[in-house]
Amino acid sequence: QAKLKGKNRLQFFNRDIAGGIQRKQYIERVLIKAIHHGHFNLVYMPIFDSQNLKPVGVEVLIRAPSLASKGIGPEEFIPVAETTGLIKDIDAWVLNESLSRITYLTDKYQFDGFFAINISAVELHNREFPQMVKSMLLKHQADPSRIELEITETSFVDNLDNSIRQLNHLKSLGVSLSLDDFGTGYTAFTQLIEFPVDKLKIDRSFIQGLDEGASEKKRMVDIVLALADLYQLKVVAEGVESEEQIEYLKYRGCEMLQGYFLSKPLSWDDFQLLIEQSHSSQTA
Ligand code: C2E
Ligand code: MG
Ligand code: MG
Ligand code: MG
Repeated sequence: QAKLKGKNRLQFFNRDIAGGIQRKQYIERVLIKAIHHGHFNLVYMPIFDSQNLKPVGVEVLIRAPSLASKGIGPEEFIPVAETTGLIKDIDAWVLNESLSRITYLTDKYQFDGFFAINISAVELHNREFPQMVKSMLLKHQADPSRIELEITETSFVDNLDNSIRQLNHLKSLGVSLSLDDFGTGYTAFTQLIEFPVDKLKIDRSFIQGLDEGASEKKRMVDIVLALADLYQLKVVAEGVESEEQIEYLKYRGCEMLQGYFLSKPLSWDDFQLLIEQSHSSQTA
């Protein structure tokens, strides 16, 4: 009886793996088509100053309508792009598009905020990446000090020395670096000092825990804020979804906030409206 159960379980297991591989191959096929036809666009998620709740920057997020219509979002297709090598094309496209947009906003609205661009961990081991960033900055005449590259914390795990070298190379171009999803990876706090990063983004899972009274998550947020203070890093809280969270983070001195409560990711037109409005309220 037990043996039979075990065998069945094994069959299910194999079927799940096979299903997973099939789905990945399917996503890869749709991705290749999307890249070929240029079926991507960006949405713009504003980042706010916690003191006055004015937008100070924006994170650009990729969207692929042809995949979204099949229920596949970036959380699922970016990892597939990473294992198939398609990510280099995607990162290059996002970078080019973002730099062209920030130049446009600067010229048209005197926008002076930052653009935070997600890059894959794969780029930490891609020798051509810094040169690509450099030539795109030149092409768009973009001010590197207003460009921030977001890298997820988990990506440092393999080949730390090599990653740090690449990060320093990127920094030498004048761009800022930000550690995304901070708290979810393996970074020992003592390692933090070795990373040439300028900013930490506290992962959404910690911010959402702030509602649960005197929780462990609260203490974790406090520790991250103290650490950021110690190493003189800027901090963004990600995934802010309530007024209570804003109050807590503001009171604890978290400099910047991002999340659905303040704004969802915006279309290009809506983001321009926001910039236009905040600009006119400043000059009024
Ligand atoms: P991320 O960089 O940590 O981006 C934050 C994700 O959390 C976004 O999902 C955003 O829409 C979502 N989010 C932000 N605030 C809230 C909130 O208050 N509540 C909830 N429930 N969610 C919130 P998205 O756009 O699906 O992106 C998922 C991940 O995909 C990103 O995580 C990033 O790792 C990756 N990604 C997105 N765009 C790009 C891109 O252009 N290039 C690369 N390489 N990766 C990207
Ligand atoms: Mg990010
Ligand atoms: Mg994040
Ligand atoms: Mg993430």
